[in-house]
Amino acid sequence: MTIPFDNSYARLPERFYSRLPPTPVRAPGLIKVNHGLARHLGLDPAYLESPEGVAVLAGNRVPAGAEPIAMAYAGHQFGGWVPQLGDGRAILLGEVVAADGRRHDIHLKGSGQTPYSRNGDGRAWIGPVLREYVVSEAMAALGIPTTRALAAVTTGERVRREEAFPGAVLARVAASHVRVGTFQFFAARGDTEALRLLADHVIDRHYPEARDAAHPYLALFDGILARQAGLIARWMSVGFIHGVMNTDNMSIAGETIDFGPCAFMDTFHPGQVFSSIDHMGRYAFANQPKIGQWNLSCLASALLPLIDENEDAAVEAAQDRLNAYGPRFDAAWTAALLAKVGLAGRRDGDADLAVALLNRMAEGKADFTLAFRRLCDLPDHADNDGAVDQSFTSLFTDPVAADAWLADWRARLAHEDRTEADRQAAMRAVNPAYIPRNHRVEEVIQAALEEDLAPFETLLAVLARPYEDQPENAAYQAPPRPEEVVRATFCGT
Ligand code: AMP
Ligand code: MG
Repeated sequence: MTIPFDNSYARLPERFYSRLPPTPVRAPGLIKVNHGLARHLGLDPAYLESPEGVAVLAGNRVPAGAEPIAMAYAGHQFGGWVPQLGDGRAILLGEVVAADGRRHDIHLKGSGQTPYSRNGDGRAWIGPVLREYVVSEAMAALGIPTTRALAAVTTGERVRREEAFPGAVLARVAASHVRVGTFQFFAARGDTEALRLLADHVIDRHYPEARDAAHPYLALFDGILARQAGLIARWMSVGFIHGVMNTDNMSIAGETIDFGPCAFMDTFHPGQVFSSIDHMGRYAFANQPKIGQWNLSCLASALLPLIDENEDAAVEAAQDRLNAYGPRFDAAWTAALLAKVGLAGRRDGDADLAVALLNRMAEGKADFTLAFRRLCDLPDHADNDGAVDQSFTSLFTDPVAADAWLADWRARLAHEDRTEADRQAAMRAVNPAYIPRNHRVEEVIQAALEEDLAPFETLLAVLARPYEDQPENAAYQAPPRPEEVVRATFCGT
C-alpha cells in the first residue's frame, strides 16, 4: 500500500517552507486510526494500523511520495505582531486528492523540532492530541467546517510540560494549512511575487470561482470573508469558543483549525473565556465576531499590493469589501439563532425574540446546549399547569422569567406554517444533544494517562451522532457536577 500523494504546496518556491523530515520517536504505538476518514481519502485503514503505517504516522518513516515540509508563516498573537512563526512542531507530509476531487493536507503535529520551533521542543503530549482528536471530530459531526483527525499515535517518549507526560503525534487532515499569517509573512517582507503565487495557489485550491471575477484578488478576499463570517456564526450556534483566534490560527479555507484551549460552554455567558492565557478576554465567546473582522483586516492589509498599485485605491477597495463583514456575520448569526428557536418564517421582532432568550439564559445561568435541546421537545401549545415546560424552565435560576419567554415564543409560533412535529424535527437537526463537554474531554485525558482508552472511544462514538437522542448515552448530555467543572484550558504547547 502506498499513500497516493499529489503535492502542490511543495511546488511553491523554497522560501514558503523548510524541507525536512519528521524527527523519529523512540517507540511508536497506535492510539487510533479514523477508518471512515482514511477510506474517504483513499487510504487503507489496515495499512495505517500496521507497523509500517504506525511508523509513518509517528514520523519514523517517510512514505513514498511524501515531500515533508514545515510551512513558514507569521501572525498576530493576542494582537501583537510576530514576524516569524511557522510550523514549530508540525510537518506537512503532502497532499492527497479524495474521490470527491477535494485536495487534503496530511500533516503530523508533534513531530519534532523545525527551523521555526523557537524555544519549543517540537513535541505534543497525549492530552492536547486527544483533545484535538475529539473536538475536531465532534465539529465534523456537527457539520461545521473543520480540520480532522486521521490518527493518533504515542511516541514512547516523555514530554516535559508542568510535569513529564507521554508524548503523542496527531495526524491531521485539512483542506489546507494556509493561514492569514501565511499572507502576512510575505507582506511583511515586501515579497509581492510570493503574495501573488500564494493567492493564486489559494484561488486554485479553495476559491476557483474567483479566477474569473473582474478582480480575482478582491473576489478571493470576499470569499474568505464570507466563509469566516459563516464559520464564526456556526461556532457560536453550538456554544464553541476557539480560544486563540490569532491570525496564524485562522484558516484561509474557512475551516476551524488549531484546537488549543478551545472549549464548548456549559452555562451560557457571552463573556465566557476558558483559555488560561487569555487574561483580557480578547477571545471571549461574544468577542469572536469582532476578532474575525480584525483578523480579516490584517488579511486585507497583507493583500493590498495585489489589489491596486496605487495604495490609496487599494485601501479604499479593501475597506469597502471589509465593510461587508458586519452585515454578513449578523445575517448568518441571526439565521442560526432563528433556526435554533424553531422559526422558519420571518416576522418583525424575530431576532429580538431569539436574543431575549440568550439574555434570559445568561441571567438564569442556563446550560446552553440543554436549554436549546429541551426547547425542541416543547409543544406548540402550553399545557395547563406548565408541567411539560419544566424540563426547560428548571434549567434557569429564574424559571418564571423563562416561562415568560416561552409565552412570547408560543405567541410567535402561532404564525408559523409548519406542524409541531416538523418544527421539532427541524430544531433537533440544529440543536445538538451532545457536544464535547470539557469535563468529558478531561475524563478522556485522565484515563489515557492511566493507559485506559475506553472513555476516548466511547466519547468519540457518542459525538459521532450529536443530533440523535441516544437514550443509552443520556449521561453524556449532562453538564458537569460542580466538582467536575473545568474552569481553565491550556494550549498544551
Ligand atoms: P499555537 O499556539 O499552537 O498556534 O502555536 C503558535 C506557534 O508556536 C506555532 O508556530 C507553533 O508551531 C509553535 N509551537 C507551539 N508549540 C510548540 C512546541 N512544543 N515546540 C515548537 N513550537 C511550538
Ligand atoms: Mg497555531
